[in-house]
Amino acid sequence: YKRQVKYFDLESERKMEIFLRSLAEVKWEKSTKARVASGANPKTEWKHLIDNEICGSEGVSVGYGKIPVGEYLPLHTHEPQEIYFITRGAGLLTHDDANLKKISEGDIVYIPCNKKHGIKNTGGIDLEYLFIFMIDNWDEVRYNFIKR
Ligand code: FE
Repeated sequence: YKRQVKYFDLESERKMEIFLRSLAEVKWEKSTKARVASGANPKTEWKHLIDNEICGSEGVSVGYGKIPVGEYLPLHTHEPQEIYFITRGAGLLTHDDANLKKISEGDIVYIPCNKKHGIKNTGGIDLEYLFIFMIDNWDEVRYNFIKR
């Protein structure tokens, strides 16, 4: 992926507008067959919230994920660094490759570039989380799912 961080460009003619949308109005999406074949869990879902295509943002993009009860976001890596903010539920986060850490609503997680991570929902409700990449469009992130 290309590093696409941009700061305020005072000479830019671009007039950006503030973008506001309700999470409830955004549709859930699911993995394609090809993505499932590459190791994605077909039961996880997500929403596209912020990216270059949606609102013209540059250097940052945001999605919202859901892991049903008993399900998991498989162990994976990707080149860009990422932030998770758990908004609902509880589970286990893969931490330092093999170790697990308990996570729950209100927790924020920083994942360095290329670091293995995954989440298992161990609670009684859907686990939901915001995820943030410092790139224009997280659709372009290449997920490498680690098969066990
Ligand atoms: Fe990730």
